[in-house]
Amino acid sequence: IYILGIESSCDDTAAAVLHNGKILSNIVATQEVHKQYGGVVPELASRAHQQNIVPVIHQALASANIGKKDVSAIAFTRGPGLMGSLLVGTSFAKSLSLGLGIPLIEVNHMQAHILAHFIEENGFKKPEFPFLALTISGGHTQIVKVSSYFEMEVIGETTDDAVGEAFDKSAKILGLPYPGGPLIDKYSKEGNHKAFPFPNPKVSDLNFSFSGFKTSVLYFVQKQTKENPDFVAENLKDICASIQFSIVRILMDKLKKAVKQTGINQIAIAGGVSANSGIRNALMDAEKKYGWNCFIPKFEYTTDNAAMIAIAGHYKYLEKDFSDYSITAQARYNF
Ligand code: ATP
Ligand code: FE
Repeated sequence: IYILGIESSCDDTAAAVLHNGKILSNIVATQEVHKQYGGVVPELASRAHQQNIVPVIHQALASANIGKKDVSAIAFTRGPGLMGSLLVGTSFAKSLSLGLGIPLIEVNHMQAHILAHFIEENGFKKPEFPFLALTISGGHTQIVKVSSYFEMEVIGETTDDAVGEAFDKSAKILGLPYPGGPLIDKYSKEGNHKAFPFPNPKVSDLNFSFSGFKTSVLYFVQKQTKENPDFVAENLKDICASIQFSIVRILMDKLKKAVKQTGINQIAIAGGVSANSGIRNALMDAEKKYGWNCFIPKFEYTTDNAAMIAIAGHYKYLEKDFSDYSITAQARYNF
């Protein structure tokens, strides 16, 4: 089974070819145009997708060393994401499927982030059902109970900002370029995480809140800069380490609660923020400390990619769960 996956939910145009669960190619064209605006500009994103989608798919097929005729089905991101961006991938996937006469498979982007764990990779173990997924990305922060490939239940989520936004907005306050999450991670490695304690927001149940966190970073930096204009430059690594430490603590506190509530101690992390070294280390510690069984995805399957769309498509293909051509993109798409 050869699945061509297409991802265009935000600002990355991506295509991947999967053969029986193994990745043959995984191409991502990241749009650089948004950098100068400090965030993704939706209109520019859809235009860039239109420019990128044909070359990216050609490259995915070429580096997989297969032709269009070999593809068994097309899997695409239906949502959630930016409507204009989703429309490009959705329309393209529909036309390609129609043209080639092969099945069309719609995929939920957030499920795909989780299902990335099932891509066949040497040295990576796959989670067993049921497990808990901590999905941490640019637009979402969720704890999901995963009972089977497509039986997923959100048992906790953010009530405001996503954790990726907490990273990116904090970075912006520090004057770092977008997206700042990876930079905070980088500087954290040489900083003292105890230097500047940030509060742990109080949120009920398994839910999260990060808008107050971002505000506390803002007020802290404003106050310190008033006293010393060079405060950020002089303390950048310590500030970053403190921010990262606090965010990881918030995530781990809720995970512990979720494990207690569900009795499930198999934990998989997914989404762009699962690239973060702080959360990765915290999970590895939790294996020793609490006896959890933790699953940390390969780096290239954390941020947006089409390999994860293709693996979700692969499992739907096995179930013959195909979409018809009346299907539309969905900016908000819960499962
Ligand atoms: P969603 O999946 O919710 O629709 P998205 O697709 O835009 O959102 P992803 O591509 O999954 O999000 O993740 C991007 C986010 O991950 C950004 O906020 C980025 O800063 C963050 N991120 C990536 N690497 C790291 C890292 N090492 N440390 C912290 N954050 C990171
Ligand atoms: Fe994503």
